[in-house]
Amino acid sequence: MPANTESPSTAGVQPDASLEVCDTDSEYGLGVRTLAPRRKGQVIHHFTGVLTPELLQHSLQVSPGMHITQTEIIGFLSHSCEPDCRLDMARSELVALRDIRPGDLLTIDYAETEDVLYRQFACHCGAARCRHWITGRTEQPNAEGRAYLATLAP
Ligand SMILES: [Zn+2]
Repeated sequence: MPANTESPSTAGVQPDASLEVCDTDSEYGLGVRTLAPRRKGQVIHHFTGVLTPELLQHSLQVSPGMHITQTEIIGFLSHSCEPDCRLDMARSELVALRDIRPGDLLTIDYAETEDVLYRQFACHCGAARCRHWITGRTEQPNAEGRAYLATLAP
């Protein structure tokens, strides 16, 4: 193997030049933006990675107890409670839920794919139906989340 190669899992996979992992300038850290316009229903990206039974920080759940890691793009997608994209884990596709302009951040709803999150977190996505504290779809807010939600109660 050449000394200067990429990690074996990504070798041979072409990075998608129309997508960019970027700093979101927010508390959420890295995100992904599109450099090309997208139409509602369009498949934006086909993802590949390494399957693991482990829940990791940037992994995504493929099926119960199975996660995909070392993805080029999708592990860095930001969460929104009203996202502009969704993941089709069966087809390994990232799909636009609405028209998206160049430069826009791509978002998914983490609870759509994850039974349990690596880390629950407060959400400030600004959506009218923002859940304010994000968990996996099968878990309840943890103690920090319950305390946070209590501060929001009128
Ligand atoms: Zn939200």
